[in-house]
Amino acid sequence: MNTGKVLIDWYHKKKRDLPWRETRDPYLIWVSEIIMQQTRISQGLPYYIRFTEQFPSVQKLAESTLDKVYLVWQGLGYYSRARNMHITAQNIVSALDGKFPESSEELLKLKGIGKYTAAAIASVCYNEKIPAIDGNVLRVIARLYNIEYPVDKAMGKNMVSTISIENLRNNDPGTYNQAIMDFGALICTPTQPNCKECPLAGKCMAMMQNTIPNRPVKSAKTLQRPRYFVYLYLRNKNNTLIIQRQKSDIWHGLFEFPLWEYNSPIKPEDFIAKKEISNITKGLTISAIDFYIPKVHKLSHQLINSLFIEIVTDKLPAIPNSKIVPVNKLDEYALPKIIENYLTKKPKK
Ligand code: SF4
Repeated sequence: MNTGKVLIDWYHKKKRDLPWRETRDPYLIWVSEIIMQQTRISQGLPYYIRFTEQFPSVQKLAESTLDKVYLVWQGLGYYSRARNMHITAQNIVSALDGKFPESSEELLKLKGIGKYTAAAIASVCYNEKIPAIDGNVLRVIARLYNIEYPVDKAMGKNMVSTISIENLRNNDPGTYNQAIMDFGALICTPTQPNCKECPLAGKCMAMMQNTIPNRPVKSAKTLQRPRYFVYLYLRNKNNTLIIQRQKSDIWHGLFEFPLWEYNSPIKPEDFIAKKEISNITKGLTISAIDFYIPKVHKLSHQLINSLFIEIVTDKLPAIPNSKIVPVNKLDEYALPKIIENYLTKKPKK
């Protein structure tokens, strides 16, 4: 069965009113696709608006500093996406005369553009007959065709891809890809799909065979590695110390308080008693010490357990690579969400 036409008819009546639906400009489609990865529309939409206001073209993005891009991106997470966009914008301007490649194969060569994004841009902007397959599409197809193989493994993925290519036949590819995306987000949702409103209920094989709660089948979940961070929030009057992250690790290029990482949880008193910490505060007059343990910060492959130690001193110590900034100017720096949350949620004294 080819379910493409039904999905497109449904889409024309029910599609979400989103700014990037009104355009076939590859720059805007690219920005929307990258921002919306792993992000809910309600969260991503204001970022899309702000980002395209600040950087209305690939040229403007290429001309910007990375720090400015990070600032616009702040709070959205997965900062490598912003970094890769900046690199790719510069590459398009310098090597491709400011024009996006017009095929998914060429788009795939650009940094940060994977199969899904390349297919989305190529189908929407250049009418390439290629399915854009993300988690929404895997779920919808796995249910409609009652696929019993894990959709995150080769066999299941190939089945979804073959069915999607068939569905694209005789249909506008960009519209089909956007239609199935919206259908997955609005009707065939991960939990409690709205089968009563579903225009494909009569054709849904998972519905007929009563397997909806078990579709899509997934293989074992990826383990999230726990990490244990201790941040030292040193304060003197209205000033504090921050350091820009340099390593090839999460949050590369963002600013944070001096950080120590351990293999297991550490108590605040044990951290403060460590020689390296007492060396830092040696000779300083400490007027207050406080600590705060926020909820675990979940990333796709990591669980960040953090402890914030706030120490108020008569002057700030010298810590390599750190810089002194006024606390009320911290919002001028791109900070990881975990630091932002701490600054807004820590108990006020
Ligand atoms: S009937 Fe339900 S499970 Fe099947 S495609 Fe429609 S919404 Fe999804």
